[in-house]
Amino acid sequence: MTQQTITLIGGGLVGALLAQLLAKRGFAVKVFEKRPDPRREGFVGGRSINLALAERGLQALRTAGLADDVLQRAVMMRGRMVHPLQGVSGLQRYGVDDSEVIWSVSRGGLNMLLLDAAEAAGVTFHFGQGLAAADLDTQRITLVDETGTQRQHEAAVLVGADGAGSALRAAMNDYMPLGQRVEPLGHGYKELEIPPATGASHFAVEPHALHIWPRGGYMCIALPNTEGSFTVTLFLPAHGPHPSFDTLPDAAAASEFFRQDFSDLLPLIPNFAEDYDQHPVGSLSTLYLDRWHIDGRALLIGDAAHAIVPFHGQGMNCGFEDTVVLANLLAEAGRDTANAFSEFQRIRKPNADAIAAMALENYIEMRDSVADPRYLAKRELGARLAERAPHYFMARYRMVTFTHLPYAYAYDRGRAQDVLLDQLLRDSSDVENVPLDAAVSALRATLPPLPPLRLDSGLIAAYRSTDYRVRLAKGGFTSIRVDAPVPDALRA
Ligand code: FAD
Repeated sequence: MTQQTITLIGGGLVGALLAQLLAKRGFAVKVFEKRPDPRREGFVGGRSINLALAERGLQALRTAGLADDVLQRAVMMRGRMVHPLQGVSGLQRYGVDDSEVIWSVSRGGLNMLLLDAAEAAGVTFHFGQGLAAADLDTQRITLVDETGTQRQHEAAVLVGADGAGSALRAAMNDYMPLGQRVEPLGHGYKELEIPPATGASHFAVEPHALHIWPRGGYMCIALPNTEGSFTVTLFLPAHGPHPSFDTLPDAAAASEFFRQDFSDLLPLIPNFAEDYDQHPVGSLSTLYLDRWHIDGRALLIGDAAHAIVPFHGQGMNCGFEDTVVLANLLAEAGRDTANAFSEFQRIRKPNADAIAAMALENYIEMRDSVADPRYLAKRELGARLAERAPHYFMARYRMVTFTHLPYAYAYDRGRAQDVLLDQLLRDSSDVENVPLDAAVSALRATLPPLPPLRLDSGLIAAYRSTDYRVRLAKGGFTSIRVDAPVPDALRA
C-alpha cells in the first residue's frame, strides 16, 4: 500500500513535533511554513522569547526521543520567587525536591531542535510558503511566498498547526462555520531583558526560579535563559486608566512607573528605554471553537484550535500533549482520518477548555493572590493535607504541571478541594486553628483517592473515553478512575 500523505500547515513548536511523530509512524509528511528556515536565516520571534516546559510537554518529548536533548538546553526552575512591593523576596518551591520542577527553554532553540528531528525522521519542509487559501472540495491549497508568487498543491489530509491566527482555520470556517469565539483578555504584554551579570554567577538574580513581581492588577515575570540573561515580561491592561499601556506609551512614562512599582527590578534592566520603546505590545486572547475538524479532510491542533492566555505556562505543553494523542489515533485509524479527527476532538476538547479556564484563573493568582494572606493560608493548609494524605490531596497547580491527569480532571478536582479548604478555614484565616486530624478525616470522607498521576513509559497518553481510560501500548485498556462523583456539598 502507498504511504499516506499528511500535509501540515505551520512548522512551529506543535507542527514540528507532530511532523516527527507522524513520520516515525510511517506517514509521508509535508510541512508548509510561512517563515523562512530559522536554522539558515535566524529565528523570527513574534511570541515569547522563552517558555516554561512542564511534565506534559516533557512526556511528549520523551515519546519523540527528544527530552534529554531539550533538557540539556534548558534552565531548571524550582519554584516561584515572589518579589513583593515591600518586604523580602521568597522562593515558593513547587515540590519538596527536584523531581517537581519546570524548565525554561528558548522558543527559537526548541523550534530548531524539533525541525532537525523531524527532518531526520523524513519530513519534507517547505519554508517561506504561507497558506493563502484552502479549497476543501477540490482538496487543493494555495501557498504564497514572500515575493507574492502563488502555487497550488494537492492536500487530501490537512492539519493546521499554524497558530492562534490560523489561516487554515479561516478557510475551514468559510467552508463550514466552526463556532469560533475569541475572548480578548484586555491585557497586553511587553518583553524586556535582564542581561547576564559579570562575576561568579552569570545571573543577576536567582537562576533556578520563575520570578514574579505581583502588583494586584498587573505584574512582571522573568524566566532565565541559559547564557545568563532573563526575559522579563510586563503584563498590564491594554487600555484604560493608569496604569495601562495607554497611559505608559513610551519609556519616559514607563520608567517613572517602574521606579515606583518595580524599584528592585528596574536597575537590573540597563537597556530599559530601548527595550520598552522598541518591543511591541503583544495581545492575549482565548480562542474557543465548537468544531476542530471538517470530516477527515482538515483538522486544527495546538494554538490554531485552542489558543489560551499564558499564565499557567501550558499552551505549548497542551499542544505537545495533543501531538501524541493525534499521532496515535492516526496511526491506529489508517485511512479513516474522519474517525481519528472526531475522536481527537472528543478526547482533547474538554481538556483544552479546562486549561483555558485555569490559565485565566491563574492570572489573578499570579498577579494578586500570591501576596494575599488568605491565599497563603489555603496554600499552607493544602500543603499540610497533601503531606498527611498524599493520595487524597494535591494542589491543582501540581496536577496540571507535574502529572498526566487530564486537565479536565485537575480542574474539577481542584474546585472540589478548594471548596473543602474554604470550609475548613471558614472561621479563621489561621491554619494553626484548623485541627489537622479532623481536616484529613473530612478530606477522606468527601473525596475519592487520586488516580495514578503519571503514565509510565508502557502507557500511551491517549485518553480514550470520558472516564479517561488509558490505552496500553500493547493493546487493551487500563482505567484511571477519575470519574468518581464529587459530592454535592463540595460543588462550587
Ligand atoms: P505557534 O507557535 O504560533 O506556531 C505556528 C507556526 O505556524 C509558526 O511557525 C508560524 O510561522 C506558522 N504559520 C502561521 N501562519 C501560517 C500560514 N498561513 N501558513 C504557514 N505557516 C503559518 N506555553 C507554554 O507551554 N509555556 C509557557 O511558558 C508559555 N509562555 C507563553 C508566553 C507568551 C507571552 C505567549 C504569547 C505564549 C506562551 N505560551 C506558553 C504559549 C505557546 O507560545 C503556544 O501555545 C505555542 O507556541 C503554540 O504552538 P503552535 O505551534 O500551535 O503555534
